[in-house]
Amino acid sequence: MRLSQLFTKTSKTIPADETARNAQLLIQAGFIHKEMAGVYSYLPLGKRVLDNIEQIVREEMNALGGIEVQLSILQPKDIWEKTDRWDDDKVDNWFKTKLKNGTELGISLTNEEPLTNALGGFINSYKDLPAYVYQIHSKFRNELRAKSGLMRGREFLMKDLYSFCRTQEEHNAFYENAALAYMKVYDRLGIGDTTYRTYASGGIFSKFSDEFQTLSDVGEDTIYVHEDKRVAVNKEVFTDEVLSDLGFKREELIEKRAVEVGNIFSLGTKYADALNVYYTDEQGERQSIIMGCYGLGISRLMGLLAEHFADDKGLVWPEAVAPAKVYLVRLGDDEATVKQADELYNRLTAAGVGVLYDDRDLRAGAKFADADLTGIPYRVVISDKTRVAGVYELKARGSEDSQQLNQAELLKTLDV
Ligand code: ATP
Ligand code: MG
Repeated sequence: MRLSQLFTKTSKTIPADETARNAQLLIQAGFIHKEMAGVYSYLPLGKRVLDNIEQIVREEMNALGGIEVQLSILQPKDIWEKTDRWDDDKVDNWFKTKLKNGTELGISLTNEEPLTNALGGFINSYKDLPAYVYQIHSKFRNELRAKSGLMRGREFLMKDLYSFCRTQEEHNAFYENAALAYMKVYDRLGIGDTTYRTYASGGIFSKFSDEFQTLSDVGEDTIYVHEDKRVAVNKEVFTDEVLSDLGFKREELIEKRAVEVGNIFSLGTKYADALNVYYTDEQGERQSIIMGCYGLGISRLMGLLAEHFADDKGLVWPEAVAPAKVYLVRLGDDEATVKQADELYNRLTAAGVGVLYDDRDLRAGAKFADADLTGIPYRVVISDKTRVAGVYELKARGSEDSQQLNQAELLKTLDV
């Protein structure tokens, strides 16, 4: 992508109506546009980051055996009444709307009921199970406070997977595999070592749900970390009774702030039973279906990564999610310099390397500041001087030092 053709621009001014560092940086770097509190649009560079996170999650869900669907955002009321979840006193942060004729609708905040209902039309025998179905789609929640930028949206992107199993053993095995798949996602995003599987409330069927919590000073959750066991206990379930159940001693645990980046639940047979979705076993007997649900906050992760990896100059994206691998700065407008920079841009692009090509008519300082703010992993400079010297200047975003390399060395360093 040539920056001369990108409509977004960076800004030196910290947006006055944003207190969250992630949103401040992402707005200043032109990755997102704030529509209103808790509601953001993704601009070209932001969309790339979001897509990259989404793709990592998709790959891990596919490896887990998940099958992707896309569920509707408008939901009929009657299926939620069957499980007794429609009323506002059951779910208090639901956006709802009405048809012109007065019929009430829900706007997707989770999807157990609609998906179970849809699947019900296809599930008859034990041969039709297990089923592991997921989607990556917008969710809407009428959050009381939305002051954490992308980390707490009123509209946000979530991956939600639902499992439908025949036996408790089948469910348990899948549930544990899902927990492992979640940790793989966090590893690939560079936050594996600061993310803890966490005992939390919200188990409808089991005693706990499992949250995945990433340490962060701006996190809204308080957790107690057991460093040796690499697990944590959420404050909401942190009682003497729970600690003794888990075999933990209070003094082994350290209090930390954290952000909930995922949450998985065992749901038992409650939803499928209520929606009258059963299967027949090998003996021809009707059996209940055991469900689980598995949420992972994709846009929240983008906000977390923006905040987690930033420094005083701006964003510092891990390569796995960066909107491009190389920020190519062209300085000077000698014809030969322009030609050399164009050639490198074409060469890298042809090799599948993402490049932001700063071909704009700006001074060096402005381009370097934008390279830093944008947080692209590698900055390459081509100037009249480097061309004459026969070198390329390479600097990694996280480091202060630059290197002078010849073309072969440059391409090798960039894995081309
Ligand atoms: P929280 O306690 O932070 O409000 P939750 O427990 O209500 O979240 P879940 O229903 O467990 O959220 O949703 C699954 C995942 O979706 C969460 O682990 C989180 O990563 C993400 N998520 C939930 N609410 C939001 C939100 N308002 N904005 C962005 N991501 C969210
Ligand atoms: Mg949760």
